[in-house]
Amino acid sequence: MEGKKARTTEDAWEIQDTQRGKPHGWIQWKGTDVCMDLHCKCGELTHIDGDFVYHIKCPMCGTVYMCNGHIEMIELEVEPECTKEAEIH
Ligand SMILES: [Zn+2]
Repeated sequence: MEGKKARTTEDAWEIQDTQRGKPHGWIQWKGTDVCMDLHCKCGELTHIDGDFVYHIKCPMCGTVYMCNGHIEMIELEVEPECTKEAEIH
């Protein structure tokens, strides 16, 4: 499994998939606690629970990743009970 590769966080920022032109969200991490599964290019599936996870390192192969905050939005026809309504911007 191969993904994008950049030298620095700033370089990664320039080539990240921003989902532009499609419904999308942008997570501003703000240091908040996150629970994330990592599917690494080496095939390892690992997990992290922590604050300030702007970057993540695979414990098996040492690959370091920037965590892109742009996420896909998939429109639903049925609204779940836990849905949060966004503020008017
Ligand atoms: Zn790995």
